[in-house]
Amino acid sequence: MLKKMYIDGAWVEAASGETRTIINPYNREKVAEAAEGNREDAKAAIQAARRAFDHGKWAALPAAERGDVVQKIADFIRRDKEELAELETLDTGKTFEESRVDMEDIAGVFQYFAGLADKDGGEVIASPIPDSDSKVVHEPVGVCGQITPWNYPLLQAAWKIAPALATGNTIVVKPSEITPLTTVKVFELMEEAGTPKGAANLILGKGADAGSELSENTDVDLISFTGGIDTGKKIMQAASVNVKKLALELGGKNPNIVFADADFELAVDQALNAAFFHAGQVCSAGARLLVEESIHDDFVEELVKRAGRIKLGNGFNESTQSGPVISAEHRDKVEKYVEIGQKEGAKLEVGGSRPNDPELQDGFFYLPTVFSNCTSDMTIVQEEVFGPVLTVEKFSSREEAVTQANDTIYGLAGAVFTTDIGKAEEVAAGLRLGTVWINDFHPYFAQAPWGGFKQSGIGRELGKPGLEEYTETKHIFRNKNPEPLHWFTS
Ligand code: NAD
Repeated sequence: MLKKMYIDGAWVEAASGETRTIINPYNREKVAEAAEGNREDAKAAIQAARRAFDHGKWAALPAAERGDVVQKIADFIRRDKEELAELETLDTGKTFEESRVDMEDIAGVFQYFAGLADKDGGEVIASPIPDSDSKVVHEPVGVCGQITPWNYPLLQAAWKIAPALATGNTIVVKPSEITPLTTVKVFELMEEAGTPKGAANLILGKGADAGSELSENTDVDLISFTGGIDTGKKIMQAASVNVKKLALELGGKNPNIVFADADFELAVDQALNAAFFHAGQVCSAGARLLVEESIHDDFVEELVKRAGRIKLGNGFNESTQSGPVISAEHRDKVEKYVEIGQKEGAKLEVGGSRPNDPELQDGFFYLPTVFSNCTSDMTIVQEEVFGPVLTVEKFSSREEAVTQANDTIYGLAGAVFTTDIGKAEEVAAGLRLGTVWINDFHPYFAQAPWGGFKQSGIGRELGKPGLEEYTETKHIFRNKNPEPLHWFTS
């Protein structure tokens, strides 16, 4: 059955009638046909969201009632978790186990923001002016355009949809054109939960078409984007047309620093998770490993041994540890970076090619790859590969580790492994990153803000800051004893 768009409370095909075939990156088999919307569909969705915000009941609804709807969405996601996880694995190739974990996280995100919906009653502030009252309230921004990537399709959408709805905004969501399935399904659940007509709209289609309408259209008040840095720059430029509020979650080149006094087994295990989880297609992937000189050789030897044993395959097989990358074009990009790495003098320790396994020939597989002898000036150390490619650099002091780690345009996340907690905290303080993990990698949760320093983005998702992104702050001042000033009286 055709996966349709949801505009103004109705499931619709693209105005042009165009469709797109969605394929499983594990074997290139068709998994669905989806409507391929364009600017016309995006305009219709924006108009519906505009009407629903300006004249509808969503923003005016008591906050607790909005919270109830958002909570119901969380409940329905939990109820349909297996179906959603299956769709996510079919769409992205990630393991079913990972998709199940994602769905639990996603339900948790809706639940968290449902709980915050009615917690902000505004704040009375001390006015310095006699006989006056002053209070600060938060109101919804308006119509929000929300554009998401293919690596965590529903998770990234949840980080945007849940806080926007909880605060009374109306939304137009555009998932990546290659992974729309779980977002379509969640819109069905949002309809079932009672989201009113026009409050939540879904458009499908290409970024340059349906997506750019969202960033250019002057009826959109806020644009929230997760994706690559080049697209982020275009969106930032387009958003200036009506000075939209802007939230950008862009890429990362995330350092993972291992000191000689770290728990060796823990650090090796986590270095593998950091780099190769979901075939490295994670914005916070620990793709840059920095190892203290004295343990460097032993560490690399163990890491390479284990990276070479990672079991690639069908995400639905229990023995599979990692799936393919998302598409043929994306694998080409990964391959180009590996070529560049070799030309620039990095030492290829393992991987560096497609697998020979006959069972993996139909999918977009690429072997987990480790480069040693890397230096900060290399392209593969500076640019986001977004695939299963790990670079290893050496350092010999705490200061050097921090300087090297900070030496990129990005500032999303990173980790430090050491048994010396004082050292860990000193290093954490020196890192210009939105998230620092100590003796761990990748944990994130709804309660903690997520986002980047430097060119990794603008603003935060999750946590209270993730809710505040979707509100405007208003100061209301009341003079309790007003009298004319007579300034202009002759
Ligand atoms: P992408 O930038 O190619 O696409 C992301 C989304 O933007 C898609 O929906 C796409 O259709 C749309 N788009 C493309 N061009 C557009 C345009 N001109 N106007 C409006 N929309 C447009 O990114 P991707 O390849 O889907 O995702 C991978 C990137 O996402 C990586 O760089 C990764 O680091 C980043 N990412 C960041 C985070 C984070 O939290 N910081 C999380 C996940 C992914």
